[in-house]
Amino acid sequence: MINRNYLELKDSYLFAEVESRVAKYTAEHPGADVIRLGIGDVTRPLTPAVTAALHRAVDEMGEADTFRGYGPYAGYAFLREAIRGHYGKRNVALGLNEIFVSDGAKSDLGNILDIFGADISVLIPDPVYPVYVDTNVMAGRKIGFLQATEQNGFLPLPDPAVHGDIIYLCSPGNPTGAVYDRAGLAAWVDYANREGAVILFDAAYEAFVTGDLPRSIYEIPGTETCAIEFGSFSKTAGFTGTRCGYTVVPEALVRDGESLGALWLRRQSTKFNGTPYIVQRAAEAVYSEAGFAEAMANIAVYRENARVIADALTAAGVWFTGGENSPYIWLKCPGGMDSWTFFDRLLSKAQVVGTPGEGFGQNGEGFFRLTAFASPENTRRAARRLQDFLRAL
Ligand code: PLP
Repeated sequence: MINRNYLELKDSYLFAEVESRVAKYTAEHPGADVIRLGIGDVTRPLTPAVTAALHRAVDEMGEADTFRGYGPYAGYAFLREAIRGHYGKRNVALGLNEIFVSDGAKSDLGNILDIFGADISVLIPDPVYPVYVDTNVMAGRKIGFLQATEQNGFLPLPDPAVHGDIIYLCSPGNPTGAVYDRAGLAAWVDYANREGAVILFDAAYEAFVTGDLPRSIYEIPGTETCAIEFGSFSKTAGFTGTRCGYTVVPEALVRDGESLGALWLRRQSTKFNGTPYIVQRAAEAVYSEAGFAEAMANIAVYRENARVIADALTAAGVWFTGGENSPYIWLKCPGGMDSWTFFDRLLSKAQVVGTPGEGFGQNGEGFFRLTAFASPENTRRAARRLQDFLRAL
């Protein structure tokens, strides 16, 4: 009767386990001043350009002349134009029909599996955002893991001896903050084109990339025949609660003689009725001149938070990576401590919450993720406590 693949999932989603341990601690220590650098949710509010667009759109919905009902399945042209303009700044030319608006990257990353066969082989980095693994487990697919380790900078490269039909890449990476350079992505693009594989590239954190590192996989030549990219307004512009994202499926991406974009549109028009008009107007405003400047000002705040955490770890002599091109800092638990023990001690001794690396995959054992998304004040307070805690170990 039931989909028994669900029984193969780990008992609880990582963040549910974190929440339950924090709830237990605060129940036993009422009034404890717990600071959260755990779940990757933002704290900066929507910016003025975005809220102004939302207000305008709400007013339009209240007038008969400007009211809108069901929208186009792939999103309104005005938002797809704005997304196309964003890619254009990096010399990536997209067609409007290659852009599909949604209510966020998480849904698309899970739903995209509908267009692929059940018996395909999937390669997923370890450690990584748990949604890739769990959605494939739910579908009963065979998963091979790409070993992301300290030795390869948490950026695995293709092994020509191992075939995968689908390869997940996340850059900047969650949880490690590692970012592929052009050569690394080009190696994957060559592999995928040779193997007839499809890369699912998660660009949810592209707004954090600095310098010349690639923000989109389409910056690499030859990618239009082998990659689907997922984008999100969540971390770029504080849309975690507002919900908007998009998926890019190039026209040239064809498998078994079928256009993957056509299959995706068929899937979406059957199971999805679109992102709210008002939210699409809000997302459009993110790519206006004022909106983008405001979004980047918020990213700068998170970047500064990352620097504050990084300084505390450096002062305490703890190894870490990430934080420069990503909101995540990935540290090595001192003294060979396992990551849940580190979680429990940091919570009980410093009242700071992070995320145990083990929750992101076996290679995450012994590592720990901190996020730069708290307020600057809480980040500074947490960084002081963290430094004292680490020095006292
Ligand atoms: N992809 C990665 C790597 C993430 O870390 C997250 C959220 O934390 C998402 C996608 C989800 O994005 P959205 O809020 O657009 O669903």
